[in-house]
Amino acid sequence: MYSPLPRLPHRPWAAFVTVAALLASCFTAAATLTASGAEPAESGCRVDYTVNEWSGGYTAQVKLTNLGPSLSSWRLTWTYTGDQRVTSAWNATVTQSGGSVVAVNTSWNGTLATGASAEFGVQGTWRSADPAPVDFALNGIPCGGTGTQPPTTPPPTTPPPTTPPPTTPPPGAGCEGAVICSDFEDQTGPTPTGAWRFTAPDCQGTGTAAVDTSVAHSGGRSLRIDGRAGYCNHAFVAATADLSSVGPVLHVRMWVRHTTALPAAHVTFVSLPDTSQGGRSLRVGGQNGALQWNRESDDATLPAQSPAGVALSRPLPTGSWQCLRFAIDTTAPRLDTWLGADQIPGLHADGVPTQDIDQQWLARTTPPRPTALRLGWESYGVGDDTLWFDDVAVGSTPIGC
Ligand code: CA
Repeated sequence: MYSPLPRLPHRPWAAFVTVAALLASCFTAAATLTASGAEPAESGCRVDYTVNEWSGGYTAQVKLTNLGPSLSSWRLTWTYTGDQRVTSAWNATVTQSGGSVVAVNTSWNGTLATGASAEFGVQGTWRSADPAPVDFALNGIPCGGTGTQPPTTPPPTTPPPTTPPPTTPPPGAGCEGAVICSDFEDQTGPTPTGAWRFTAPDCQGTGTAAVDTSVAHSGGRSLRIDGRAGYCNHAFVAATADLSSVGPVLHVRMWVRHTTALPAAHVTFVSLPDTSQGGRSLRVGGQNGALQWNRESDDATLPAQSPAGVALSRPLPTGSWQCLRFAIDTTAPRLDTWLGADQIPGLHADGVPTQDIDQQWLARTTPPRPTALRLGWESYGVGDDTLWFDDVAVGSTPIGC
């Protein structure tokens, strides 16, 4: 059984710390070049290297921004000073020799205008240490700022912020006018009413749903689900809004707070009835301890449930509010998922089959057509959880956290 456990809780602001360290290093490199008589780098670049790590493994999302002249191809190099080993990559061809890593553009992302960015990612293993690399170079030239940066400029000395940015929006923020924009503050009693209705789609058991006045992301109310293991205990609260005409891309945002880590067994906490599956559901839940999409009609999963596929997803943190967002294309088999600010590589279908990610998912090419949103809990054997939903939004345009 593969069950990745995060070594550290993910901290979005950790990425900023890393970036600041990189920039400091890049400026140092530029100054060194000048001191040795070389010209300052003309092909400046910036690299945002964002790591998600767990015991023994990691993924890194790399955003390369070209600050120099336009490029028709790129080759980004760096050195791992720990014992990281790249095992796979997406959106770049990545090779490693010793600690030296080379990432080369694919056929579709080699062109980089001034100021443009390319994003790719790697997955790998580590045992004793996995510090972020600091010696990025683009086409052989160290990332040295803009190229017009005065070479004697000292490294920035202002420490990066060490507190996370505020993540709690004001109630309802960012979703006014959306088809669903609910902070549950209009609920008047424990039974969901108005735009929400309790439903037990299969058979009703001991799973329950109620408006909660003790735990909330915004205001004083949220939706609480006490989910119980077993097929008959499926319990959902369905929005009464008809989503049939939302699109062409359906954007969904919700804040969710779980009590129990996602189990190894398959569970679902978001269910979208889908006319392209004859009314069966497009489901968001977990398996093997990580988030996954599941298609009810053929039980396909995104990512594939191989260890490599699961490693490209994420566990869902417990005991804290998490912003979960989806973009579901209803015109092509494309799907994207974000946890907080991070796009999750394993929960990304782009129409081009990729082993361990969307190869299985894309076996069915008919795009989904969700018609409704249901929030709750559905397990198929084991897996209890108490969870809350708040600040839920669905619309045709992107909705922030
Ligand atoms: Ca609320």
